[in-house]
Amino acid sequence: MKLPDPRMIQLVMSLRGGGVTDAKVMGAIERTPRHLFVPQRFGDQAYDDRALPIDCGQTISQPLIVALMTQALKLDDRCKVLEIGTGSGYQAAVLARLARRVYTVERYRTLAKEAEDRFHALRLTNIVARIGDGTQGWPEQAPFDRIILTASAPQRPDAILEQLKEGGIAVAPVDRGPKQVLVRYIRQGGEISETDLLDVRFVPLVKGEARAL
Ligand code: SAH
Repeated sequence: MKLPDPRMIQLVMSLRGGGVTDAKVMGAIERTPRHLFVPQRFGDQAYDDRALPIDCGQTISQPLIVALMTQALKLDDRCKVLEIGTGSGYQAAVLARLARRVYTVERYRTLAKEAEDRFHALRLTNIVARIGDGTQGWPEQAPFDRIILTASAPQRPDAILEQLKEGGIAVAPVDRGPKQVLVRYIRQGGEISETDLLDVRFVPLVKGEARAL
């Protein structure tokens, strides 16, 4: 795969500065051409460490946040992963390099279709994409070793966390008053422990399948 090297090198350096220490995560970022996931008019900013607008009024997450969330999941190649909020498909593509299989749900048909085209183009055959409401997780495929929400939940997303295996890890942005916090959940002995990681800003998790688009 051909990548715009100088821009990628600069991105890797800023991720390192932001606390990305896991070499496997960094490798997955390096092998994922972000310019294919952003609208063409933002192509020149694809390797800047910033979120960018995508269709349907949504956003592709900032690379640092993608990397830190991926790192917090401690993935290995046996993991079955659920992602809520496919968006551009960038986060799913990064996860797919480190996990066995990624199941990803998006409520906008347009975004889900565009993301699927990208997965095919990149031959990421271990991603399964679905259009629908992810607020109830993906019951037919549960349980999962890892779960990631890329839209902010109004409170602890219990219905989704129920689909986490024993010993499993989930990361999710959760509303805390006017702020959002990235929270890591671990299921151990039937209990779910939680740790706040950092303040973040994501689009909201919205119930129901999108009617338009
Ligand atoms: N992971 C994405 C980030 C996209 S932004 C990326 O790498 O580009 C979050 C996405 O969550 C948006 O596309 C939004 O439409 C979607 N979303 C919000 N609520 C949802 C829900 N209930 N079910 C599925 N997707 C949802």
